[in-house]
Amino acid sequence: MNPRAFTNEAYIPTPIEHVANVATHGIWVVPSVIGGIELIRRSTTWAQLVSACVYGTSLILVFVVSTFFHSVHYCNHNRQLKDALHRCDRAMIYIFIAASYFPWLNIEHFSDNELLFSMRYVVWIMAIIGILYQQIFHEKYKMLETIFYIIMGIGPSVAILNVYNYYNITELKMGGLIYVFGLVFFKSDGIIPCAHAIWHLFVAAAAGFHYYAILSHVFPETDLPNIPGASSNMPPLNMLKSHIEL
Ligand SMILES: [Zn+2]
Repeated sequence: MNPRAFTNEAYIPTPIEHVANVATHGIWVVPSVIGGIELIRRSTTWAQLVSACVYGTSLILVFVVSTFFHSVHYCNHNRQLKDALHRCDRAMIYIFIAASYFPWLNIEHFSDNELLFSMRYVVWIMAIIGILYQQIFHEKYKMLETIFYIIMGIGPSVAILNVYNYYNITELKMGGLIYVFGLVFFKSDGIIPCAHAIWHLFVAAAAGFHYYAILSHVFPETDLPNIPGASSNMPPLNMLKSHIEL
């Protein structure tokens, strides 16, 4: 472990920490691709298909971008490339938080609830503000950035829970708690050896809980068409799928 970074500077990992950082997210790239494909396979409505694509893509990207950034950080000494990828890595956190909400907010029969309907857009607006803030003040006011993650990660979920007890799902709460506990390690570079790699494992575990919750509640395995959110004007997706298969 190397000494802690000064304020407004990035911590420099040891070679072992670099390898741990790459490995702890690299191993989840293939499972997240398989997970994303499974969501698409289970989609029977257009809303589900859109959710599967948005959430699945960001699930894959969060691990791909992180693995790529940490590999370049270790092997390549091009400062500009490293800096650009670091910005992408941090931006992906905001996108991934918004995308994790998306399947829950995109269920069609919740369109009649104004709060949930507006939350659909609020989470993405928060992600855009977060990314802009992070691009402008990169590696400055880092504590504020962490507070921003917490506000975005917890705020909308409290609002959603207030509206529907439907979302009182244990896996969702577990995922959220794991993210929050993981932040201790996110902030412990130079205090705990391999702290960033441990943070990565917390991210993977929390994402796993959220994925499972989304898979079983928003994409239930069923032979019945159009569940959940059956009020689409579009032709049922499974009709289209059977046309393609013919
Ligand atoms: Zn990382």
